[in-house]
Amino acid sequence: MAISFHAEDATSCFGSHCDRQPEFRLITLEGEGKDAEGNAVESGVGIALLCRECAIAEVEDELEVIGEKVHSDIPMLGLLLLPLQLTADQVHQLNAEITQSAPINRKSVH
Ligand SMILES: [Zn+2]
Repeated sequence: MAISFHAEDATSCFGSHCDRQPEFRLITLEGEGKDAEGNAVESGVGIALLCRECAIAEVEDELEVIGEKVHSDIPMLGLLLLPLQLTADQVHQLNAEITQSAPINRKSVH
């Protein structure tokens, strides 16, 4: 079941102290870890609706965590930045690319 938000919550950016209109959705995939209180946190997906400025700042922050330049107790495994609206065809194409392993064809071509 996909994450959804109330319409009134989706009218402004989820960035802190920001009330601009969201232009993007940032989907993040986090691994298992521990929260600030030391409680175990399961692997999961997070979604934030963000304005352009906050989306760029958030992607830069998450890339630092992925690059291990910034320590996080909850490992960031991946992220995807998308516009708020997609066509059905774009959704279909994106879905097709999210597979269990990298798209490497192991059959040799001779
Ligand atoms: Zn913002």
